[in-house]
Amino acid sequence: MPPILIVALPTPLRRLFDYLPPEGNETLSILPGTRVEVPFGSQTLVGIVVKVAQSSDYPIEKLRRASAILDNQPKLTDDIIGLCQWAADYYQYPLGEVLHAALPTLLRKSDPLPTVTSWAHTTAGKGLPATGLKRSPKQQLVHQLLLEHGQLRDSQLREHGISSSVLLAMEEKGLVARQQVSLYDNHNPVVIPDTLLAEAPQIPNPEQQAALEQIRYHQYQTYLLEGATGSGKTEVYLHAIARTLQAGRQVLMLVPEIGLAPQTLQRFQRRFKLPIVQLHSSVAELERAQNWHDAASGKARIVIGTRLAVFTPMPDLGLIILDEEHDLSFKQQDGVRYSARDVAVMRAFKASIPLLLGSATPSLESLHNTLKNRYQHLVLTQRAGGAQTPEIEVLDMRKEENDGVLAKSTLEDIRRTLARGEQVLVFINRRGYAPALLCRHCGWVASCTACAARMTLHSHPPHLRCHHCDQQKPVPSQCPSCLHPDLTALGQGTQRCASLLEQYFPDTEVLRVDQDSMRRKNAMGELSEKLAQGNPCILVGTQMLAKGHHFPKVTLAVLLDIDQGLFSGDFRGPERMGQQLIQVAGRAGRGHLPGKVLLQTYQPDHPLLQLLLAQGYGAFARELLRERALTRMPPIWAMALLRAESKRPENAVNFLQAALKIAHNLRPPSPDHAYLGPLPALMEKRNHRYRYQLQITSARRTDLQQLLKSVIEELEKTALAQRVRWSVDVDPQDMS
Ligand code: ADP
Ligand code: ZN
Ligand code: ZN
Repeated sequence: MPPILIVALPTPLRRLFDYLPPEGNETLSILPGTRVEVPFGSQTLVGIVVKVAQSSDYPIEKLRRASAILDNQPKLTDDIIGLCQWAADYYQYPLGEVLHAALPTLLRKSDPLPTVTSWAHTTAGKGLPATGLKRSPKQQLVHQLLLEHGQLRDSQLREHGISSSVLLAMEEKGLVARQQVSLYDNHNPVVIPDTLLAEAPQIPNPEQQAALEQIRYHQYQTYLLEGATGSGKTEVYLHAIARTLQAGRQVLMLVPEIGLAPQTLQRFQRRFKLPIVQLHSSVAELERAQNWHDAASGKARIVIGTRLAVFTPMPDLGLIILDEEHDLSFKQQDGVRYSARDVAVMRAFKASIPLLLGSATPSLESLHNTLKNRYQHLVLTQRAGGAQTPEIEVLDMRKEENDGVLAKSTLEDIRRTLARGEQVLVFINRRGYAPALLCRHCGWVASCTACAARMTLHSHPPHLRCHHCDQQKPVPSQCPSCLHPDLTALGQGTQRCASLLEQYFPDTEVLRVDQDSMRRKNAMGELSEKLAQGNPCILVGTQMLAKGHHFPKVTLAVLLDIDQGLFSGDFRGPERMGQQLIQVAGRAGRGHLPGKVLLQTYQPDHPLLQLLLAQGYGAFARELLRERALTRMPPIWAMALLRAESKRPENAVNFLQAALKIAHNLRPPSPDHAYLGPLPALMEKRNHRYRYQLQITSARRTDLQQLLKSVIEELEKTALAQRVRWSVDVDPQDMS
């Protein structure tokens, strides 16, 4: 009897599939983690063998044969398959889809991988003294790199600033030779140099030292390293990394966003003499596949990547670091909706290694875990580089003279900053788009009588709706409080901000920084270089600006409509507002120039805003945690969202009604279990589709997990499930 290949396939079907080996391969030993090409209906798919069995539940004559075995050696190791299995169960997605997402794009196809050019010393080159090419610095660098690494690919040499003309010249002299290698050729032994440091590390200050002494290296523990921007978190990472590398182990460094990877790479390359690779979507496909193989073969000692890198096989993994752990980008928002942070926790646990989470504004999830002693809290309170904390000034927009977007005194401050030759950052809040209704005259905001929460303005048809209890109201035509007729959606108008600033400051460059303008490869790098030149300019942008970029010449940060977060229909609105405020404030005055932050608000007296400004993020976050406990929200309770969208709204609603009914039968609402909806999504129409959601919350996560599994099984059998687009989101981060 031939072995049966049990294969996970990228299909929405939540099961595995049995296949026979290809004709003539019956005796080949095939290991789990190997990719196979198989017929599936009328398609051909690439799947992963997860098990090899002696028998099948199906009659053997009915089984189809795999059409090809794609790898000699497994591509995914047992630990990664196990991690994917955990994620599949936890997030309620088919294993095949999770495994598929874990592979670099090129490996999701069955085509053989192209070969690449690689360079090594000739015998003559190897015979040269170590400093033998001193007179030509670029050639000397190649010489030195090849002495360290044995061989290097074109793309890797380019990362060190080596152009092909340098290599051609050396080839001409007979010092180096090229060869075409396939990605599978990775037999170079890993050499760990005696001195892996390329520069002297900073001497840790007492706080950094105390944090470093807490970290234990050969057992699982998650650490939350909390410290303001500039407090020296990265320096702590670098010390922990050095220790891990010295012990002969690899490091996985996760950053929230592609734009931050090059900056991190440069800083790491300055410090360490070991191979470092990047894994994120702005690395070209082939290079990414190469980098992935380098990580998997153990050749790359440090991997810097975005969320998708959390599944990279790394045989000697000894430490995971996840920087800016509060950042929304760690949660995948489509396809398999996993949180790279939570997958990293599980990975560290399974591998018995430490995980370091870093942030100036930790998520409530991680703070909650430190309060429960599940994570260990490490705190840095000083600014390591000696820069000062900026001063925050609140502008009451009800009283300030303004043009609907910018206050007059804001403009004056901008003008003064530019005149001093410094740079300005203007932050626009665009999260949780469906806005609250605001009277710009007296600051009145439409709120729900039942929940003390603000209502959300919807436009199809126009109405106000509470996203906490589902109460609905018509849109008033004038302010109920001061009778002013000028009611506007909070958050509008900020779109015009950049063009307004261009008008006010015609001689100053206004740079837009948002997802669109930063999509291009290295757009962020170019922007950083431009800013580093130091000419006065105004940066205008959204969330991007709140991430960990360094803008050393920015001395004034202006925040517009940030109080929108206080009224968001998303229960995480206030948390996000606090994080953005602190993060943006952290961008001002990083260098030796003192910084200033201007906060334009219609709610200067809001207790949460007051608390944040008076006592800081820590006290603010603890207050929010108390509220979450009262309102039975994450992270105290567990939450899942079922989402559905359809061109015909009634289909989406009916589907979720069916889901609600199934769920009700299995687990009726109770003091520790609740349902809300179906509700229109905060962004209720997108791409011609109407979007609805059903929210399920439970005091106990295991109850929620079991329920979800059963509900999904039932739902998949319904006819409606074929007619709408639907998905499940466990631990949703973005409620829009
Ligand atoms: P964070 O990651 O928290 O923003 P960094 O690690 O980037 O902080 O540190 C901010 C600045 O302070 C950097 O320029 C860094 O080189 C410097 N720095 C960090 N730790 C020390 C130290 N122990 N001694 C001197 N300078 C330090
Ligand atoms: Zn309500
Ligand atoms: Zn009013």
